Amino acid sequence: MSVGGVPTDAQWAAITTNDTAADGQFWYAVQSTMIFCRPSCPSRLPKRENVTVYADPHAALAAGYRPCKRCRPLAQPVSNATWVAEIDTLLATHSQEPLTLNELASLAHGSASYLRHVYQAATGATPLQRLKTIRLTRAKALLTATDLTVAQIGVLVGIPTTSYFIAAFRTVYGQTPLQFRRECQKRNC
Ligand SMILES: [Zn+2]
Repeated sequence: MSVGGVPTDAQWAAITTNDTAADGQFWYAVQSTMIFCRPSCPSRLPKRENVTVYADPHAALAAGYRPCKRCRPLAQPVSNATWVAEIDTLLATHSQEPLTLNELASLAHGSASYLRHVYQAATGATPLQRLKTIRLTRAKALLTATDLTVAQIGVLVGIPTTSYFIAAFRTVYGQTPLQFRRECQKRNC
């Protein structure tokens, strides 16, 4: 059935810009690596002369190429809602680590800018804003439920620089972690 071809200028433009709108329309295989990808794959741009384009990913597979582990070209494209839920799970499970947007994008198999765009459109917050909320909410719980120091709690929730932890906490809640803890003890919360 579908035979591979050289990329058209439009297809090559989609590959170079990681255009998600082209996903599902064609797949591209790279001779130097013997791997095939979706157009949106954020992996390193191949040389154009090494690229073969297929209308069907199974034709690329039949031609001996392996599916890219990053963009998973044979998987059903996930809906944005599913992807956002996956990102939320990643944020919650990795919130104690020094997670950057690029690392999150790599874990979530997408490009950083596209991930931020989709996530913010769906939730109203950027992934890093959401990450901060998760960390500070956890810090609040630890401040009331434990006797750990502010510095220890900062480390535990993924904000190891104490001064930054205190400043972020005060910006969001209007008081320092210690003020919050004392007030909570007074009110028996
Ligand atoms: Zn790929």
